[in-house]
Amino acid sequence: MELIDGNRIAGEIIAELKAEVAGFPGRRPCIALVRVGEDPASVSYVRKKEKTAAEIGIESRIILPPVSIGQAELEELIDSLNNDAAVDGILVQSPLPKGLDESAVFRRIAPEKDVDGFNPLNLGKLAQEDDTGFSACTPAGIMELLARSGVDLSGKHVVVLGRSLIVGKPAALLALQKKAGANATVTICHSRTSDLPAMTRQADVLIAAIGRAEFVKAGMVKPGVVVIDVGINRVADPSKKTGYRLVGDVDFAGVAPLASKITPVPGGVGPMTVAMLMKNTVKAYRLSHGR
Ligand code: NDP
Repeated sequence: MELIDGNRIAGEIIAELKAEVAGFPGRRPCIALVRVGEDPASVSYVRKKEKTAAEIGIESRIILPPVSIGQAELEELIDSLNNDAAVDGILVQSPLPKGLDESAVFRRIAPEKDVDGFNPLNLGKLAQEDDTGFSACTPAGIMELLARSGVDLSGKHVVVLGRSLIVGKPAALLALQKKAGANATVTICHSRTSDLPAMTRQADVLIAAIGRAEFVKAGMVKPGVVVIDVGINRVADPSKKTGYRLVGDVDFAGVAPLASKITPVPGGVGPMTVAMLMKNTVKAYRLSHGR
């Protein structure tokens, strides 16, 4: 069994981006990071994004509207960032406080600055295999993890657990694409799938993104499977200072001995999401500068 090291691979991507950005004449790429409220996970995610941007040489503009901001005001803020030629990418940290319509805010972001890839136009471009669009960061990170671990999906059966617009569906679309590294046969499973273990046992590559702690057990996979565990779940652990530990959607201890390759949680898909956000920001900069 080989561990797919997301920290190492994300580090490679960050180093490549840093070299690329150093070669840009004129102003540096810029990402606007919008965080509303003090949700501790959001605070830490935005800090991580800011830190990674700085490491690459991407400028970040941190915008912290008051938690009392209304929908119209927030959308006006997005409009002003859309119209600001010095901003290449816009990220609105999810979740927004109750009362704000998150999907309306995401839709408001101009498609060419939608570095999270949540705008319907970018999802459409993904379906059409139009490379001028932006793929959602976590699924794009999954494809990088596979490619850089020497896994060619061509002809393989990829089973995706979960059909969310942020992970499951775009991951399935990327694996299905008619291009090098992809060309998989794809099955998407969800909460209404009957006999899930019969599906997952067919997987050459299993992508688990359901948000259920250690759900995928050894009896649900075939020997030699490649496992990408997207899940981030907290389980109570009194031995930890925090009182919890993070586990994936896969029972790592049971499944890893059967797998040919597997991502750990943490340290697998997680670091890739931020790296791909930065990659999308550099792409937005390049597209707007005709490079
Ligand atoms: P969602 O809750 O949006 O979607 C979960 C999907 O899993 C749904 O399609 C749901 O089915 C399906 N599902 C839930 N329970 C089961 C079950 N028992 N059997 C089969 N299918 C099931 O989650 P996300 O896609 O946003 O996230 C999934 C996981 O990935 C979470 O743990 C999240 O924290 C993590 N995540 C990690 C990221 C990273 O950077 N590593 C980034 C984003 C997410 P249905 O549609 O029928 O309800």
